[in-house]
Amino acid sequence: MNLLDLIFPKRCVSCRKFGSYLCDSCFSKVEFVDKPVCPYCERQAVGGKAHPGCAKRFGLDGLIVVCRYRGPVRNAIIKIKYKWIYDIEKILATIISQNLWKFDFPTDSVLVPVPLHTKRKRWRGFNQAELLGKDLSKRFKHPYADLLLRSRYTRPQVELKKDERKKNVRGAFSLRFTQSKPFSLQGKNILLVDDVYTTGATMSECANVLKRAGASSVWAMAVALG
Ligand SMILES: [Zn+2]
Ligand SMILES: [Zn+2]
Repeated sequence: MNLLDLIFPKRCVSCRKFGSYLCDSCFSKVEFVDKPVCPYCERQAVGGKAHPGCAKRFGLDGLIVVCRYRGPVRNAIIKIKYKWIYDIEKILATIISQNLWKFDFPTDSVLVPVPLHTKRKRWRGFNQAELLGKDLSKRFKHPYADLLLRSRYTRPQVELKKDERKKNVRGAFSLRFTQSKPFSLQGKNILLVDDVYTTGATMSECANVLKRAGASSVWAMAVALG
């Protein structure tokens, strides 16, 4: 135990029991996604690869998603977003790590976080997708690159209906790098990182930007399927 644990003792994000951010009893209640699913129709798909009939040229090629956005995982994600306890992100990274073997994604992928608008990032102090991406990059020795920018302020997707979500994020992202800070996307495999995958509208929009700039594949990775 370190000093910080004494001053701010860890409590379970779900049942408030002291000791850890997610106690064993709540961890056992996490609902895992047994079989990988397609990013478009969310039906079972081998290794998480998009069905050939669903896939779009400038869209997502696959989906890595580990559990359902319910119970303890939902509580943990909400706590990260709104309560600034970003240590919980380590639990989420662990949950992803333990389940990565189920997915058949390109092993040379570059991890790219879904960006927040600077206004929201400043207010929150951090971007949870960045924390997750950096942690996973260290664990798996995958390169990490903060390539995207949310150039337009958008309403939170959770407030919107399914058909409104696409419209809300359309044209909201652009590439961060400039001529002085080049990064060639040509032929690169990208793994987009976010906390929750709901309709895929945000990740699809990001994939579109990355693929038009030359990326050969874009997979989405999220802790939970909303
Ligand atoms: Zn608990
Ligand atoms: Zn499909």
